[in-house]
Amino acid sequence: MLTNKTAIITGASRGIGKAIAIKLASMNANVVVNYNSNLDEAKEVVDEIIKEGGNAIAVKGNVSNFDEAKRIIDEAKDKFGSVDILVNNAGITRDNLIIKMKEEDFDSVIATNLKGCFNCCKHASKIMLKQRSGSIINISSVIGITGNAGQSNYAASKAGVIGLTKSLAKELATRGVTVNAVAPGFIETKMTDKLTDKIKDAILDIIPLKRIGKPEDIANAVAFLASQDANYITGQVINIDGGMVI
Ligand code: NAD
Repeated sequence: MLTNKTAIITGASRGIGKAIAIKLASMNANVVVNYNSNLDEAKEVVDEIIKEGGNAIAVKGNVSNFDEAKRIIDEAKDKFGSVDILVNNAGITRDNLIIKMKEEDFDSVIATNLKGCFNCCKHASKIMLKQRSGSIINISSVIGITGNAGQSNYAASKAGVIGLTKSLAKELATRGVTVNAVAPGFIETKMTDKLTDKIKDAILDIIPLKRIGKPEDIANAVAFLASQDANYITGQVINIDGGMVI
């Protein structure tokens, strides 16, 4: 259980972030549902948690902005008194072949997926180091491990998240703060809705478990990494992909 622990989940108004927020709340954590623009969706997640007897607030903020990221972390600390778990989940795609990729498509993906992760880690780690405890879980992607044609910006950002995770694991370990990453494969969310049926079928072909993942598959692993059961695990990347990358 995560009783008296405060968990911040970025980009938690839908998809994988929403599933993580609901899972951690079901383990008694106080949950901060960060959202960037959709207040209604974020409120729905908060309401769902409260209806089940949990504790949650919605906090607006764009993680790619250094000061806004600080405000998200500070609001969590002000409201609940500590920051124990940070899940860097906010992410975007702007897919294209490099020949066609615009500079802003590269910049915006790096700004949200990698810089956003740095911003939140930077501000949360200050609190965690003082507490001498904490758990950071970064959502990378199997694409950050294998690369993918048409996703050079996304792959670079998610590979960057892995490098950031391993470095911070080494920096923060002496103060009892663990830093791990999960690398989802192909998960059913609005992010993957955009893909054509042809692409989805081709992906299914290369998944040994022969099914597309659910947001809850990721949430279960994050819940484990956030729990005391995982307190001897740091600097690791766990693939959750039905065996896509073995
Ligand atoms: P999604 O698009 O449904 O959710 C992403 C969330 O991040 C949205 O709520 C969005 O508003 C939020 N967000 C985007 N930019 C933000 C910003 N600047 N500040 C705050 N919030 C912001 O996608 P998802 O599939 O749930 O993805 C969640 C994470 O999992 C992402 O990091 C994604 O890269 C990663 N991932 C997803 C898959 C998949 O197959 N769906 C696979 C591998 C990795």
